[in-house]
Amino acid sequence: SDALIRAESLIRTIPDYPEPGVLFRDITPLLADATALRAVIHAMIAPFEGDFDVVAGIEARGFLLAGAVAMEAGVGLVPIRKAGKLPRPAASVSYALEYGTATIEAHDDIVDGTRVLLVDDVLATGGTLVAGHELVAALGGDVVGTAVLMELPALGGRAIVGDVHSVFLG
Ligand code: 5GP
Repeated sequence: SDALIRAESLIRTIPDYPEPGVLFRDITPLLADATALRAVIHAMIAPFEGDFDVVAGIEARGFLLAGAVAMEAGVGLVPIRKAGKLPRPAASVSYALEYGTATIEAHDDIVDGTRVLLVDDVLATGGTLVAGHELVAALGGDVVGTAVLMELPALGGRAIVGDVHSVFLG
């Protein structure tokens, strides 16, 4: 649609951020545009309409999309946070980063068997979303889909995450 084409044009590419050699996709101009934001939220939900009971959004940019997805789809939201941010984490999963490791955690506000849509902004190497899947599974949730605003196919994340719905390819 015209709105999606416009939305894609609002993703800004920043060279050498956060470190030299990285081409960072900055989604903030898209978020600031009402028509673009609405279009991408609809596009993230469309393949899973009616198939999920809750959205799990990954800190921090995933939250910005997950809240809108939850409201639009009429479901609740479970935040997946960086270690140490939640008072009563029920599960935690560590994963490798380019330098070092990261840990994500969530509260157990997911009833066993709940159908979960996992949401983040960008799929790069895939480590974050694989960890997200493991975390939801550890809480007894059933990940029925994964949606991202942008996938960076050159980084190969799809090979480890599996089926991901990407609104845009970068
Ligand atoms: P991965 O674990 O797939 O390598 O990296 C994905 C995570 O890093 C996501 O949570 C995402 O927010 C962040 N990320 C990696 N590259 C980019 C990028 O170019 N732009 C944005 N906005 N986030 C990125």
